[in-house]
This record gives sequence, structure tokens and C-alpha cells, in this order.
Amino acid sequence: MSTAELRRRNRRNVYHYFYNADAPRTKQEIAAALHLSLPTVTQNLRDLMEQGLIEYAGLIDSTGGRRARTMQMAADARFSVGVELSPKHIRIVAIDLLANEIAFQRISCPFSNDAAYRQQLLAAVEAFLDAFHLDRARLLGIGVTLPGIINEARGLIEVAPILGIRKMNLALLTELFPYPVFVENDASAGGYAEWWNRSDLDSMAYLFLGKGVGGALLIGGRPYAGVNRRSGEFGHMGIVPDGRPCSCGKRGCLEAYCSVSRLTDDLDLQIEEFFEKLQQGDADCFAIWKQYMDDLAVGINSIRMVMDCDVVLGGMITPFMEDYLPDIRTRLAALNSFGDDGRYLHLGKCRAKANCIGVALHFVDTFINE
Ligand SMILES: [Zn+2]
Repeated sequence: MSTAELRRRNRRNVYHYFYNADAPRTKQEIAAALHLSLPTVTQNLRDLMEQGLIEYAGLIDSTGGRRARTMQMAADARFSVGVELSPKHIRIVAIDLLANEIAFQRISCPFSNDAAYRQQLLAAVEAFLDAFHLDRARLLGIGVTLPGIINEARGLIEVAPILGIRKMNLALLTELFPYPVFVENDASAGGYAEWWNRSDLDSMAYLFLGKGVGGALLIGGRPYAGVNRRSGEFGHMGIVPDGRPCSCGKRGCLEAYCSVSRLTDDLDLQIEEFFEKLQQGDADCFAIWKQYMDDLAVGINSIRMVMDCDVVLGGMITPFMEDYLPDIRTRLAALNSFGDDGRYLHLGKCRAKANCIGVALHFVDTFINE
């Protein structure tokens, strides 16, 4: 290894040490933990400090009598933006290097696959940066997420049924902004955000319950995209042969049973109203909900059988599910062939912002690792 490479590696290790530390650290602690000499650590700290990537945190008592200076990573040294495109809204979030949300905006703007919409999108992001006084010099990039299948190799959004997209050129989005841009499927992005928040889980399956049902797989600390980038399409697992019609054109898919529409459409209610009436003991809502939980448990149990990992639920429905989690876990325990008790199922923590946060994390992850 050349001297330059070695220096680069040392600096990255020092930075990672700060990134993973749960409290400010002294120079001596770093040297001991990384087996580096004090002069090497000092030089690296000076470099990182000059780049604004670490900062002084305070003084602590040390054994030698002199008080030692502690340092920590500067979370605000850079930030990343995540943008979610959905049929009626644009959601924009900015996160710092520790994935803390620093700004959020939800704008009513119906999706339209044309130049006028894209100009509105660009203007919305620029206005967002201005409104929250975000310094563009610190911006790592713009992540864009949407409910579609992205094919980076062919430079296409293959299909996004609920946005009416078929074979859209990715460059229409990646070249729209004067910043680096990354485009990702919404459920994959959401799964990544939830996984980032679960440091206890090395592997997990993410099941997204919205109007569409999808998901993502994180295996051994990395997303598993699949050969065709269609992994985690749990919505189209068959659960009932020749069952209810699905948006994909087939019958009996999980999505046909566990889409949020299943709860709202028959009674013509908004999702909030449905759960309100359910809480009040409404018999019609209860009948639908009971069937929904039965069907959902079948889907989750299948994921568990194939993947043998924890399952995290996401999507607009999760905030309402807290009270019913024990009921669903009981169903999972009854279905399980190996005596698992259902505690492998969790509710996501990022709620409605998971997709935006997840796609923004792409740039944070790249920055930290490089
Ligand atoms: Zn389907």
C-alpha cells in the first residue's frame, strides 16, 4: 500500500470511529482504539477538522491532571435531500449525516408525466432549500423515490402503474437538477430507512402496506435488489388461488387483500376514519379488519418461512396498527410451523417519511463510506 493510500485509509478509519462513537472522544482514546500513533492521529484530526467533518465537543478530566479536549463528528457538515413523488403530493426531506431530519415539506402537486411537472418539481426543491436556509455547498445530492421499477442499467423507469409511467427515460429526472441525483423504488428506499434505524437487525424483510403493497430485503447488512431489481415484491405473492383481482392483472395476490384500499373502499372511508370507527366498535369495520389481519398474517408468515428473518411493517397504515400488533402476532404464532411466537414482527419507526429518508440516505451512506 502506498503512503497516500495508507493516509487515506487512516483518515477514513478515524472518521468512521467518530461516526460510530456514541459520545465525544479524546485523541488518546482514538489512538488506543485504532492502534495508531499519537502524531498520526493528530495529523488526521487536523485534516478532518479543516474539512469541517469533526468539531471540538468539550473538555473532560483525564488521568494526567490536564483536562483533555474531546471531539465529535460534525453531523451538519453535509446534508442530503430525499424527494418522494406520489400521485397527489411531493414530499421533500433533508437529513444530516446522522440521518436526523433537518427539514420537511409536503406539497400538493398532482403527478403528471410531462415537462411542466418536472419544472414544478425542480422549483419546489430549490424553494425548499431557500425556505430552510440550507447551504447548497453542503448538499450531497438529491434522492428521488417513486412507486415504480427502476432499471439503472437501461436508464429507464420500466413501469410505475399508479403514476401512469411506462418506459420513462431516467435522465429526465437525473438531469433535471444541478446536483447529483439518485432514483430508487419507494419500497426499497423505505426499507433502507427502517433498516438504518434497526441497528439490532443485520437482516430484515420490509413489508410496505399502502395503496400498493411492496417491500424490500436487507440481507447481511446490504440491500438485496434481485436479478431484475424486483426483490421484495411481496404484494404479488399469491395467497389465494384464483382469488380477488390484483392491480398487476393476476388474481389472488397479497396486494389484492392487504392494500389499504381493502379497508377504505367498501365503506368509502379515509384510513383515519376507518380506524376511528374501528376503535369505536363499529361492526362493519371490525369484520373487514379481522379478515384483513387474517390475510396479512398469511403473507407475513410466508415471508418468514422463506427468509427466516425479522419482518418490519411500513406505510401509511403502521401508525394505526400499534393497538393491533398483539392480535397479528397471535395469528403469526398460530400459523408458524416451528413454534416462533410472532415477536419477529415489528412496526416501522420512520412512518410516512420512510421513503424520502431512505432515498436521501443513499448519499449519506456513500459519503461516509468513501
Ligand atoms: Zn399482483
